Amino acid sequence: MEASIRLGSIRGIPVGIHYSWFVVFFALSGILALGQYPTNYPEWSDAEYWVVAVASVLLLFFSVLLHEFGHAVTAQKLGIPVISITLFIFGGVAAISQDAESPGDEFKIAIAGPIVSVLTGLTFAAIFIALGDINEQASALVGYLALINIVLAVFNMLPGFPLDGGRVLRSIIWKVTGSVRRSTRIVATIGSLLGSLLFVLGIFAIFQGNLINGVYSVAIGWFLQNAASQGRQQVEQEVALRDVYVHDLMQHDPVTVDPGLDIQTLVDDYVLGQNVRGMPVCDDGRLVGIITVNDIKEISRDEWPRRQVSELMTGLAELQTVAELTPVNEVLRMMAEHDFHQIPVLRDGNLVGLITRSGLLRYLQYRQELGVDA
Ligand SMILES: [Zn+2]
Repeated sequence: MEASIRLGSIRGIPVGIHYSWFVVFFALSGILALGQYPTNYPEWSDAEYWVVAVASVLLLFFSVLLHEFGHAVTAQKLGIPVISITLFIFGGVAAISQDAESPGDEFKIAIAGPIVSVLTGLTFAAIFIALGDINEQASALVGYLALINIVLAVFNMLPGFPLDGGRVLRSIIWKVTGSVRRSTRIVATIGSLLGSLLFVLGIFAIFQGNLINGVYSVAIGWFLQNAASQGRQQVEQEVALRDVYVHDLMQHDPVTVDPGLDIQTLVDDYVLGQNVRGMPVCDDGRLVGIITVNDIKEISRDEWPRRQVSELMTGLAELQTVAELTPVNEVLRMMAEHDFHQIPVLRDGNLVGLITRSGLLRYLQYRQELGVDA
């Protein structure tokens, strides 16, 4: 999930909002200000309904962030880097660079989010009690947040993947059976069943006239089903590729270019001329960087004849490389994490190949077509 708006960074983790989150922001503010609060508190003014509603949604947003930080900080403590936290239409997602390597770690990372939500809910409940009847609006606000955080924890603990409860259950089955593949299959199946159930309940709700909740339920159901099947595919793929290394599918003798080459010639003779997206840059046979279509897009077309490869390339210092014996699963993670399309392969500091995303996808497709992993 790519964030559309960067909010900043906490503990080195970039926090952002995806545009789809605003749908929830407006819809939920409207539901609370025009429906729930007027029903429960008929004597407030319109302004009071809206202020309390918007505050409720903003604090819900804050609660979801805390939940995701529960996962993220636990992963960091276990030595697993966290890429980002993004809020979107169905809540939040903490993108963690790799899956936990042991069932114990997976259990801790998964359970941390719901624990944070329960603690947040209890904190709001304590504030609710402490407030007594000093201020009805403040009580309504913290009461709502106490409730919604507990609902958040309970929903997330449903035992289907990709929900936290599904991950918790997966870690337990993984621990008992020793098989990450089998445990993923089980919780992904439960996850798709939960998704279907929410989908059907949503349809019923729509027919009963409960349009907004119904549509949201259908959408979450659809999202869960997709995520469950994706999670299953990803694990199947990782298991299938366990014994595949970079040298099995790298491109030998890749097209390389000279650092002094101008961009116009690069585009005409290489990118379009030889149909390559990224090229290692070599000076006298030594790798000095990589230049890709993304780098070229940074400058306008009329600058192409005047600019050189060396000005736009990613230099050796920032370049990620792999060895021939790097497992392909690790390459897939690097590509996903940094959005790389190609990574140079080095042996003793010399360029021996290039591994590309398109080459990798082709390889996966051939395996699938030939039924190698079935
Ligand atoms: Zn969670």
